[in-house]
Amino acid sequence: MTSPIIARRFEIQGIVQGVGFRPHVFQLATKYHLTGSVANTSAGVIIHAQGLPEAIDAFHHDLVKHPPPLAHIAKVNVYHQAPENCEAFTITKSDGTAEKSALITPDTSVCEDCRQEMFDPGDRRYRYPFINCTNCGPRYTIICDIPYDRPNTSMREFEMCPACQAEYDDPTDRRFHAQPNACPVCGPQVTLFDHRHRPLEDGDSVQKAIDLLTEGYIVAIKGLGGFHLAVDATNESAVSRLRQRKVREEKPLALMTANLKTIRRFAYVTDVEASVLASRQRPIVLLHKRIPNEIAPSVAPRSNDFGVMLPYTPLHYLLLDQEPIVLVMTSGNRTDEPIAIANDDAFDRLADIADYFLVHNRDIYLRSDDSLVRLAAGGVRPIRRARGYVPVPVFLHHEVPPILALGAELKNTVCLTKADRAFVSQHIGDLENVETHRFFIKTIDHLTRILDIHPEIVAFDMHPDYLNTDYARKMTGVTKITVQHHHAHIVSAMAEHGLSEPVIGLAFDGTGYGTDGHVWGGEILIVTPDAFKRVGQLAYVPMPGSTAAIREPWRMAISYLDVAFGDNLWNLNLPFMEQIDPEKIDIIRRMIARGLNTPQTSSLGRLFDGVAALSGIRHRVTFEGQAAMEMEGMAAETKTPYSYEWEETGDYYLIRPEPIIRDVVESLAAGVSVEIVAGRFHATLIRMFTELTIRISQDCGINQIVLSGGVFQNARLLTGLTDSLYAKDLKVYTHSIVPANDGGICLGQAMVAAALA
Ligand code: ZN
Ligand code: ZN
Ligand code: FE
Repeated sequence: MTSPIIARRFEIQGIVQGVGFRPHVFQLATKYHLTGSVANTSAGVIIHAQGLPEAIDAFHHDLVKHPPPLAHIAKVNVYHQAPENCEAFTITKSDGTAEKSALITPDTSVCEDCRQEMFDPGDRRYRYPFINCTNCGPRYTIICDIPYDRPNTSMREFEMCPACQAEYDDPTDRRFHAQPNACPVCGPQVTLFDHRHRPLEDGDSVQKAIDLLTEGYIVAIKGLGGFHLAVDATNESAVSRLRQRKVREEKPLALMTANLKTIRRFAYVTDVEASVLASRQRPIVLLHKRIPNEIAPSVAPRSNDFGVMLPYTPLHYLLLDQEPIVLVMTSGNRTDEPIAIANDDAFDRLADIADYFLVHNRDIYLRSDDSLVRLAAGGVRPIRRARGYVPVPVFLHHEVPPILALGAELKNTVCLTKADRAFVSQHIGDLENVETHRFFIKTIDHLTRILDIHPEIVAFDMHPDYLNTDYARKMTGVTKITVQHHHAHIVSAMAEHGLSEPVIGLAFDGTGYGTDGHVWGGEILIVTPDAFKRVGQLAYVPMPGSTAAIREPWRMAISYLDVAFGDNLWNLNLPFMEQIDPEKIDIIRRMIARGLNTPQTSSLGRLFDGVAALSGIRHRVTFEGQAAMEMEGMAAETKTPYSYEWEETGDYYLIRPEPIIRDVVESLAAGVSVEIVAGRFHATLIRMFTELTIRISQDCGINQIVLSGGVFQNARLLTGLTDSLYAKDLKVYTHSIVPANDGGICLGQAMVAAALA
């Protein structure tokens, strides 16, 4: 007896376009002898499937449990239908307009199948640097419009040869509908140039580039989301030459090497770190240095960590297949500018940095930096989110109107929402740079087009002078909503976890404009998406010279000494006091007394800076957070805190910095090592904020704690605070999708605006 044929309609939403979803469905349907069709529509992938009930069930199960590697299924709706008269299973051709709302996938590292083919001398793509398939290769960076089809990508310049076309057309081939499909006959090619844009007469450009790297030359290499500047990472004179030419004083340079085994020669790698390194997103992962090691000292001076990534393009694998086996791969830009993506632009801007250029003729439409993560408090913590992750959305628990959120001024990213999805852009950078500001505008244009979003609301920071505030002011026909910086920080972490009930938010960072016009950054807030109440803060201290106090932490040190000791600071027996010219100390104190260019700040980032300067770690920084990073790096393992205190007025808590500063000074005057001082300072913050959070939790009956803000890039603080709050039965949430720093703020702005709209 045969069961009757049944029919079902499956509506699948999520990342189901450009990921080989239809051929995958086709193959599954064939496996279970189903008839029907699969199509891409504006509502996602629609499948009409008919066959035996058991077969339909098995098909359904496989579809959900084993989707193609790059797919992300957000939702499946299944409807009963009457069987139709159909003989076979077919893939319906895309009709263009219907596919506009489907999601675009990130650029994905070369898959194992393709990598093996590339190193197979018998394969027609042997050593071809642009090999890819349905499961790997460029996506986001080569798309200029939707639907995602070859004519809407930078691959439109290359007409497929008959062999490639046959793969593309064959539903059983692993390159079926792989839009960037190419081979040495029909696809993009690499070419090597010298820095005067003269091509090198040589057969194998890649081999020649490797030889040049071995000889210590700096080679600009065009990658997936932009140019890198590469040198042999073990060659100190080459690395320091790159630093000088790039005018990059101290920020660590990223490394790339072919495999984990090589990484383990110079850094410690845990199992989790290994899996993140090898994930298809291939981020740069911060790893503890092994000492001694073979890496040139100027790769990451004064840091305990190396930023390391594995190869992600076929070209990287070719380059790292032989000596030199560790390359510095730093972004191809001058410090503070966005990375070069176009060949002409690279020849222009990098000509006096790079000795040679290894370029190719596949255009990059949208710049995308390497992503950067570290592992802390049991999870992956993004520091810079770009290539490999963007444009995967944050899936929300409810639908929101179309919103554009403009982010912060530094580490800028923007967010666009559509229904139950929030798309956070790739890292854009610091908007005060003109080129970066252009990139900001281009990214908004590009994302609104490829995501087909027409914002009705624009959300932006309250800061009156932010450059993005200016952009918002000029927009017309949209509702404008301003969002407080730290409110946005906390709500952005809430959005990752789908939280909407009130939470206690610890928002710790360097700088954010407060509702009272002061510079906030050490805030305890009770937060819902639509509102916040400040219930605690670090007491305000003067910030002499405003932003100069960020670049020169010694100014903050004077400010804290002034608060803690007044005129007695002159009597302190402290190495710091001997290092600073007394006249300068006088000037700073007069600025403070008169309030000249001296805003008030409650920033925890500045407290870190001040203590780092007092300890002699550094008096000036070349990038924000540098002093705090170094202090974290040298902090000894200790749980002994310094004294701390807060004033309590009603339900409001004001943390006084004086006791901490006095204890730090006493330690230093007694000759205690910087390592111990740094360790005890961390222990103080952990103990103090745990105790205070428990108090506030008892006051308000809220036991969900959310940690956000750039200070939480500090793994010691994040891990210590998370552990100690957990131990007190509080639920602790932080970031694992977007950065805790200002790179995640646009998500929170969008969610606040959605709640207020
Ligand atoms: Zn592949
Ligand atoms: Zn071909
Ligand atoms: Fe911030």
